[in-house]
Amino acid sequence: MGFLTGKKILITGVASPKSIAYGIAQAMYREGAELAFTYQGEKIKNRVIDYAAQWNSHLCFPCDVTRDEEIHSVMEQLKKNWDGLDGLIHCLGYAPAHELEGRFIHSSTREGFQITHDISSYSLIALAQAAYPLMQGRTASITALTYLGSQRALPSYNVMGLAKASLEAGVRYLAMDLGSEGIRVNAVSAGPIRTLAAMGIKNFRKMLDSAQTQNPLKKNITTEEVGNTVAFLSSDLASGITGQTIYVDAGFNITAVQS
Ligand code: NAD
Repeated sequence: MGFLTGKKILITGVASPKSIAYGIAQAMYREGAELAFTYQGEKIKNRVIDYAAQWNSHLCFPCDVTRDEEIHSVMEQLKKNWDGLDGLIHCLGYAPAHELEGRFIHSSTREGFQITHDISSYSLIALAQAAYPLMQGRTASITALTYLGSQRALPSYNVMGLAKASLEAGVRYLAMDLGSEGIRVNAVSAGPIRTLAAMGIKNFRKMLDSAQTQNPLKKNITTEEVGNTVAFLSSDLASGITGQTIYVDAGFNITAVQS
């Protein structure tokens, strides 16, 4: 029996087999969870329906997180199919391309800041608000994906670093607010992984190379490794952990100078 047996979990952000959310779904399915998925827009609908089928799920709902009505519709659909929700995985983010290239001083715009924060940070709160009634009375958890650019400055990550800092603060505030009801909220800070979103960051190759040469384990991490950690955090094995940012980055965040 897997450690997520009996858990009903909603996963956002599956876009391709390289997606971190794909690795999360694989780990959670292996551990016995029942899964539901959201997808952003018609373009990837059929793809996500096919992925879901391999994890024995027919629950796939459209959800562009900039649209409150879509977020609420997801929860309404879930209510019709499940008696509640034990896990919510926030595995999405977006910044306009021009924000992620060149110098921060030149690339940043008011509009880009607003879009990036809306999609990459506020959406966690919006999803949590909508999911909350389904989570009440259960030992539920929420997990969001973040990156070290929230704490350290690096070239090109720019406004996404600010949005990730906001996301991590949102995790702490939600954890504080929901803790007394037994709902835990955490973030997983993943090392760089070559995904569709990552390819939008200028010099992403450099991030991969420097992670691999500088981190203690001397390797880049995989979506499977991130998936295993998110699965653990979503399980009752992690019942004492909330409000945390857990690093799955082969130890990169503890280093100062390459060994
Ligand atoms: P990905 O491209 O596979 O996934 C990004 C997802 O965001 C896609 O499914 C896309 O549809 C979704 N998305 C974007 N705008 C949306 C919107 N308005 N509404 C709903 N969904 C929207 O890339 P990924 O790297 O797997 O990204 C998943 C998460 O992991 C993101 O939060 C990202 O910041 C984080 N992360 C990625 C890395 C990395 O190196 N790849 C490292 C640390 C953290």
